[in-house]
Amino acid sequence: MRHLLSTRELDRATAVGILDVAEDMADVADREIKKLPTLRGKTVVNLFFEDSTRTRTSFEVAAKRLSSDLVNFSAKGSSLSKGESLKDTAQTLAAMGADAVVIRHASSGAAQVLAQSNWIDAAIINAGDGTHEHPTQALLDAFTMRRRIHGRASRGHDLDGLRVTIVGDILHSRVARSNVWLLQALGASVHLVAPATLLPSELANWPVTVGYDLDEAIRQSPDAIMMLRIQAERMSAAYFPNAREYGRQWGLDDERLARLGPDTMVMHPGPMNRGLEISAGAADSSRSTVLEQVANGVSIRMAVLYLLLASETVA
Ligand code: ASP
Repeated sequence: MRHLLSTRELDRATAVGILDVAEDMADVADREIKKLPTLRGKTVVNLFFEDSTRTRTSFEVAAKRLSSDLVNFSAKGSSLSKGESLKDTAQTLAAMGADAVVIRHASSGAAQVLAQSNWIDAAIINAGDGTHEHPTQALLDAFTMRRRIHGRASRGHDLDGLRVTIVGDILHSRVARSNVWLLQALGASVHLVAPATLLPSELANWPVTVGYDLDEAIRQSPDAIMMLRIQAERMSAAYFPNAREYGRQWGLDDERLARLGPDTMVMHPGPMNRGLEISAGAADSSRSTVLEQVANGVSIRMAVLYLLLASETVA
């Protein structure tokens, strides 16, 4: 594996291999000194053209725990806001000796453009490209599910037979896309629930089942229910009547939460719109994995950086 651009390129063995390395990395987080010397002398660049708190800081913590140097390069306050192109930026980073570039960009395909270019010879990690993919998010979600099921005995397991329901703004969600491909590779089945206006037209080619009724989906008692953020910043039209109506039909409120099985995982990639797609009660309940997802994100990103920069093969 030279880059991580999409979960579509991961087969089951490779995905399980990444999750297993993340388990090793999670062990490091439990130590008093949370640091490995593995990437000493390597330079990781966080190249963020879109806002991010969780993902950017997660990569930062991951890179530092592996002892690499870390440069945060955000679009605001850099020459990018003066119109410097992706090419010029990439060439500049190459000249500075970047070994890995973690890129988030509003355009779908931006990470791939960088990986296929001859502007820079670094490992490229897609940290979210438009509405396309966010592979490390899906990996940390899978890691979180696997840990909830198998605990410390997770190594080697896939997600065979797990039933995952993804709810909400699928249309604009790179998290949903990355999860669909990865969950399929790991043997889980995926059910999507959303208003018809928030489902993409390419859906026919996805390995999923689709429904429009959240209460019906809850009756099927899934093993995990993943609530997606309403991505208002990507919405150019009115996709639903108003926030209240959306919450009433598609939100995981306290009453729906009570109807979920006791072990159903309630997931959300963050940032959450509390009171819209998820109630505070659901977000903070014992079923919620939200904070585990954040903690596990560091382990997954350590694993990905390690596999791309410190070892030849994944498996
Ligand atoms: N943080 C995730 C992303 O960047 C999810 C979200 O923004 O809703 O795609």
